[in-house]
Amino acid sequence: MKLTGRFAPSPTGVLHLGNLRTALASWLSARSAGGRWLIRMEDVDGPRCHRDLGEAQLRDLSRLGLESDEPVLWQSDRSDLYHEALATLHRAGWLYPCVCTRKDLQLLASAPHSEDGLRPYPGRCRDRAWEGFNRALRTRLPEGPVSWEDLVLGPQADDPEALTGDPLLFRRDGCFAYHLAVVVDDGAQGVSEVVRGADLRPVTATQIRIQESLGLQRPTYAHLGMVAAPDGGRLGKRAGASGLEALAARGIAVPELLGWLGWSLGCIDRPESCRPEDLLVHFDWTRVPAGEVRAPEGWA
Ligand code: GLU
Repeated sequence: MKLTGRFAPSPTGVLHLGNLRTALASWLSARSAGGRWLIRMEDVDGPRCHRDLGEAQLRDLSRLGLESDEPVLWQSDRSDLYHEALATLHRAGWLYPCVCTRKDLQLLASAPHSEDGLRPYPGRCRDRAWEGFNRALRTRLPEGPVSWEDLVLGPQADDPEALTGDPLLFRRDGCFAYHLAVVVDDGAQGVSEVVRGADLRPVTATQIRIQESLGLQRPTYAHLGMVAAPDGGRLGKRAGASGLEALAARGIAVPELLGWLGWSLGCIDRPESCRPEDLLVHFDWTRVPAGEVRAPEGWA
């Protein structure tokens, strides 16, 4: 079977160095294996997502030379598919309505914050009777720990119960949750390799469990270390500062950026200007460092 990789940004802002590194790594992995590479816009989270931000992200990817092999999917166009998935989960008895407010959950939280600030849902509404699809909906998960072999991090094992608890799949405001959309679309698009930032590692076990409930194939995962600002701070906070446009304004052209990205992925010994194709023969997951990388001075 042909490898199918994808880059799935949320159109909530400018693609920063960390996003661009993820995009390049997934492209290199798919292309070097002779596989397909897709771009998907994850714009289910209504108010924070904007089409024009997504269009700008696509232009930036194109400037880097990274083009999707198929028309770009926008999750906001795919509600029917997510509804179907909810119906499947409901028929199998996994779903229940949840009436907990954010405040309830804060008051209820007995479990300490986990390492990444996630608080598992304590299951308060688990026994509520079904009231139809127009409620906030959570899913139970098949029990027990989940293990997977991460292409960057090596062997991983997590208990979704301890990290997220039963995830919310449909919100009271009518939005589908990211966990549902990402799993459904990876399945529908035949994605066999998920490359993304290590910030999503803690929710991977939960997503694998949702896949299992829906009878979908499990992809291979690669969680890349985050790119930090030159001073070690979070890049996301001032994302625009390390976007393509901001870099260009500082005189950093695309080939130089690609050279740094390729070097940070272990493809080349020194950050020398290049094109993405130049990196293909050198790409190898075993050479991709697992830890955080810092952006060069003056780049963010
Ligand atoms: N849309 C998610 C994000 O931008 C990434 C989802 C994924 O790659 O699985 O954070």
